[in-house]
Amino acid sequence: MIHFVGAGPGAEDLITLRGAKLLEKADCIIYAGSLVNPKHLLRAREGCAIYNSATMTLEEVLAVMEEQEAMHHTTVRLHTGDPSMYGAIREQMDALDEKGISYDVTPGVSSVFGAAATLNAEFTLPGISQTLILTRMAGRTPVPEKEALEKLAAHGSSMAIFLSAGLLKEVEEALCKGAFTKDSPAAIVYKATWPEEKTVYCTVGTLAETAERECIKATALIFVGDFLTETPERSKLYDPTFATGFRPAKGDTQS
Ligand code: SAH
Repeated sequence: MIHFVGAGPGAEDLITLRGAKLLEKADCIIYAGSLVNPKHLLRAREGCAIYNSATMTLEEVLAVMEEQEAMHHTTVRLHTGDPSMYGAIREQMDALDEKGISYDVTPGVSSVFGAAATLNAEFTLPGISQTLILTRMAGRTPVPEKEALEKLAAHGSSMAIFLSAGLLKEVEEALCKGAFTKDSPAAIVYKATWPEEKTVYCTVGTLAETAERECIKATALIFVGDFLTETPERSKLYDPTFATGFRPAKGDTQS
């Protein structure tokens, strides 16, 4: 059995209880070494085989999984954040389906939510934005034309941009072709929840120079949107004059 597990954004205690238990029981752990905190590996039991997938191809990863499976071993495939975001798990699952090897997925705290916690941010502010777009800039990995950053930026919603810290001039340009201007609020969060975490607030027009000044080249999320600076209207959810399924409006005699 293969368990795909989300390791969370970095901090050792931001893995789920389920993920931690699977690590403790695993006969083999294949971890995404470029981003997974190696401290998670301290949970491995003695004799557990450990592989760093940063230096492996898909074929090599699959070969290890098959070998472990032949020995009736349990393998944890440890991905950073949540495996469903840029985790390249689908190609692994498709190959496992072909080989008749069973697997399941344990979610993790995506870095986007680790970084939101660092920023004390709420992406969905009443009257400001009720939408969060998770995306990336096209680079060596292409992005479908219909999802070009400038097109997504046309909404002016809250945005979190992955995998693009090395392309910030292009990010600035694309955002300004959408609903943002050079003065729109932006933030860069480097290694959210790691001890070396760094947060910088800037504007869309200063993303590239800010990252350069702070020596941030990778492992960062770019945030854009008015949620970073604007004061929202208060929520309907906790408004005394607004009835919900759980409480009447104050002064409302009907429940
Ligand atoms: N599955 C992961 C994303 C993997 S793609 C998740 O859910 O978070 C790798 C990209 O994620 C990095 O280039 C960076 O943009 C972002 N990232 C991962 N960990 C991060 C962290 N701790 N802080 C900031 N960005 C991070």
